Amino acid sequence: MNDRAEDSAERKMQFLFALRSKGVTDARVLTAMEKIDRGPFIRGYFAERAYEDMPLPIACGQTISQPSVVGLMSQALKVSPRDKVLEVGTGSGYQAAILSQLARRVYTVDRHKRLVREAGEIFRDMDLTNITAVTADGSFGLPDQAPFDRILVTAAAEDPPGPLLAQLKIGGIMVVPVGQSDAVQSLIRVTRHERGFDYDELRPVRFVPLVEGLGRDS
Ligand code: SAH
Repeated sequence: MNDRAEDSAERKMQFLFALRSKGVTDARVLTAMEKIDRGPFIRGYFAERAYEDMPLPIACGQTISQPSVVGLMSQALKVSPRDKVLEVGTGSGYQAAILSQLARRVYTVDRHKRLVREAGEIFRDMDLTNITAVTADGSFGLPDQAPFDRILVTAAAEDPPGPLLAQLKIGGIMVVPVGQSDAVQSLIRVTRHERGFDYDELRPVRFVPLVEGLGRDS
């Protein structure tokens, strides 16, 4: 191996080690995170920190989540290869790319048109053809494509949004950070049953808030 290949192999090993040590143990999730390079999802000044287990700033004042949180959320969602998944909050597109390895079909929505466009370009470059990225206010879900087997919200809501609960199949699972924007938030897993919903509190998290309406660039 030349020096560069050795550096990148070493970086990848450390990246996967950090994930495991933070509790990401699901084999399919780890394989997906080994395969999808986080580098292209971070542009500019912070690009060189792509392999650290840290959230980083992206365009439109948003953040790409910490890799271990992406791993833990993907694992909590219990995605199966036949699932149709909705992600609310495309951001950089990294989480959607991970989901694309776990699911049959991924729809991802963001209120910022620029983020959707840039993520779409990366999906094309990486040949991730089972992802559709849409500019929309995701608190209303994606009625045209509903219902979903799995829904992942990557922005914090005060409560799990009603339209998203309604677009979840019976037996479906939604993972969503819940709480006031800057105060304590909890990651919640909602499971839909024939006659209602079960709520599990998973862990404390910190996400940017779910905001109503489209971004000013849209
Ligand atoms: N999952 C992303 C990180 C998400 S950051 C990643 O992997 O990089 C949260 C994102 O939620 C931001 O991009 C923000 O624009 C988006 N967002 C906030 N409120 C929204 C809403 N109502 N509808 C759709 N997207 C929203």
